[in-house]
Amino acid sequence: ISLGLDPHSKSVMNEKPRPKDEGIMTKDFITGIGIEGLVIGINTIIGTYQEWSSEKSAEKLQNMIKIKVKVLRDGNKKEIPSEDIVVGDIVILESGDKVPADIRLIETNNLSIDESILTGESIPKNKNSEENNQDVKVADRTNIAYAGSVVTNGRGKGIVVAIGEETEFGQVADKVLTSETAKSPLVIRMEKFTKQISIGFIILASILSIMLYLKGYHIGEIFENVVALTVSAIPEGLTIAMTIVLSIASSKMAKKNVIVKKLNAVESLGSCSVIATDKTGTLTANEQTAKKILLPSGDSAYIRGVGYNDIGEIKYDENLSDLTKQEFKEIAKLGMLNNEATLKFENGKWVHHGDAIDMAFLALAYKMDVKKEEEIIDIIPYESKLKYSAVSYKTKNEQYEIAIKGAPEKVLEFCGFVQVNGKIQHIDKEKIINQSEELSKEGYRVIAIAKKGNLGTVPKFPFVDLGSVPDFTFKGLVAFIDPVRQDVPDAIEMCHKAGIDVIMITGDHILTANAIGKKLGINNENIYARVTPMQKLDIVKKLQDKGEFVAVTGDGVNDSPALKAANIGVAMGSGTDIAKETGSMIITDDNFSTIVKGVEEGRRAYNNIRKVIYLLLSTGFSEIVLFVLSIIFNLPIPLIAIQLLWLNLITNGIQGDALAFEQDIEDVMSKKVRSNKESVFNKLLIKEILISTFVMAIIEFIFYVYLIKVRNLDITLARTYMLTLMVFMENIHIFNCRSETISCFKIPGLNNRFLIASIIITCLIQLFIIRIPVVASFFGLTTISVESAGFLLLLTFPIIFVMELFKRSLKKI
Ligand code: ADP
Ligand code: MG
Repeated sequence: ISLGLDPHSKSVMNEKPRPKDEGIMTKDFITGIGIEGLVIGINTIIGTYQEWSSEKSAEKLQNMIKIKVKVLRDGNKKEIPSEDIVVGDIVILESGDKVPADIRLIETNNLSIDESILTGESIPKNKNSEENNQDVKVADRTNIAYAGSVVTNGRGKGIVVAIGEETEFGQVADKVLTSETAKSPLVIRMEKFTKQISIGFIILASILSIMLYLKGYHIGEIFENVVALTVSAIPEGLTIAMTIVLSIASSKMAKKNVIVKKLNAVESLGSCSVIATDKTGTLTANEQTAKKILLPSGDSAYIRGVGYNDIGEIKYDENLSDLTKQEFKEIAKLGMLNNEATLKFENGKWVHHGDAIDMAFLALAYKMDVKKEEEIIDIIPYESKLKYSAVSYKTKNEQYEIAIKGAPEKVLEFCGFVQVNGKIQHIDKEKIINQSEELSKEGYRVIAIAKKGNLGTVPKFPFVDLGSVPDFTFKGLVAFIDPVRQDVPDAIEMCHKAGIDVIMITGDHILTANAIGKKLGINNENIYARVTPMQKLDIVKKLQDKGEFVAVTGDGVNDSPALKAANIGVAMGSGTDIAKETGSMIITDDNFSTIVKGVEEGRRAYNNIRKVIYLLLSTGFSEIVLFVLSIIFNLPIPLIAIQLLWLNLITNGIQGDALAFEQDIEDVMSKKVRSNKESVFNKLLIKEILISTFVMAIIEFIFYVYLIKVRNLDITLARTYMLTLMVFMENIHIFNCRSETISCFKIPGLNNRFLIASIIITCLIQLFIIRIPVVASFFGLTTISVESAGFLLLLTFPIIFVMELFKRSLKKI
């Protein structure tokens, strides 16, 4: 049978070695170097483009997470982007804020600032507004907050004295702000792998060279072919393709509200085995609404409505005494006074700013129609480590009083009395704890309110230790509801299916936490309540000791140790500046289910990297096997240098990068977590690479033997067939590489337009070089008909067939 091949001219059995006088710098060799230059050039262009576009999107992201500064302008508190502040602005500082400029403090409240970023000194410095001595060095002044440092405690107010480069630590602060782009551990591992493989190839190349020399090839020719073969087989496109995969994943994540600060976090997130998450704001919406007021007598009021506005009436038993009704109002009033938030109706809508509990108290005050008639004197601001806040004020009757609000067990420490029906009595703390626990069990966050009146002197904090005299009067409990985020229960179920443990860590009461955990599907043993930041760090470390790969969420000042220790620190978009700076990624919508979407993207990215490895290694290896077989069986070299490089250009350059754009369709979230010790080269990938390498090499070798020995074709013609076959083979094999387990017929072709385009383009340019005589001869080829090329396509189908069978066999196990 003619097999549809062109009947061609004379056959030359053993190609004669080239004339000895040609030297090393043959024309082919120079074109070869030119082509290799082109390969590297194209790879560099694609790589640079990718880097540029991911940098551009990083810039966009940077804008989204820009640091906002609270300033007083025209007497109003405003939030402005940090670059908009000017010298003379009055800036308000709160714990967790990054200091945006050099600021001369004019008012402080327990203010301490961590200047370690600037000075290396790790203990936070106490700051105040007092004048410093002339001889105190500028950098040591206690009344200046320096740009780039971080507020760890308290509040402060001050005037901007220098911005940008003009600041004391201008240069240093700048350096800290520019984020580094670290290489992914996987990329580092792969670079090492490429190096090792290169050494292996160099050894192999030396053996090949000796064999060729013994066969009588000229040194120059040996050099040229062996170099070409080695260059072809080394997957130099791998690291670029991997970087492409990771940056595509990171921009996909960004669309889903996950901002990755370092590329390596993409891959890490995909392999996390535990997510340790905050409750408030992450699992819940952190839209607190006061729902119930409970007095020590047991009388209660119910509040309607949701969110931060004045809509919702108050319901209580109309038969209650006026004194009792007055007590509900007083609690609302104390919650409003002891408050750092703002809530206003402006231009037709409610604008709010500040702590969620505080805003909820303001909403309650609007609903109960209580108004501020007192003059605030001093405050102890709420810090989550304190679990309470306090305020001192002068009433309209010129009386001095102090109010506390906070976690019930904390507030009770200050209390000696209760007020029932207007009468002061000794307190039964156990009864109140029981009341509070009943509310917690229903999932409410409970805040207690207490007051101390009739103070003789002007109460400035810290005038005495608040707790030294337990003579506050306990007023009552306010129960807040914070709705669970709608998509979180599903996201948690998804985590469980994916083998990821979800652990809730919260500063809230255990019973509240348990009630919410129940709604979400988190078991009690995975709930840690009333946790301090240091305990949070301990929990993370213990999990890591057990071999877990831990993602930790955080938003507060005190979360940064845990965020730093975590394998992946996830900061909340609404969190403090310092949390955002420490985390390796930021969730802009604060939503737990967003993290889970990130995990999914991370897993897909890892899959895509494996696809690229699969393609590049199997095609490279099959070229080597074909060559070695040809030499062993005394056949001429199947492809010359320029042809090998052409093949390399088509395969390594374009196809690998095209695979990086795959939309992985695997059900990644039904798979268990991959061990972080697992090599990319697990059994499955090794098997698939080996099988496909040999199938391709064997088909190509048998065909080559047939051309040379059976058909006795001229070597130029034989090489034309071989090169065309190999280009087709790789273009068909790429379909196998689209998934390690799913049949290629089940993957929609249009999922990856790049891939389809690159296949069509490579096949067309291959036809071009074997149809146009001048081009063909430039490549050391001759022309063949389109029909014979079509016949070659038939020879490639076994590679699909075998790999499909292999995938099928996987399912049966
Ligand atoms: P979470 O970890 O759930 O965010 P926090 O650390 O924010 O918890 O809060 C811990 C406790 O502090 C709460 O359970 C509550 O009792 C108390 N608390 C929270 N916010 C305020 C506030 N604005 N004023 C007074 N006490 C508060
Ligand atoms: Mg909180």
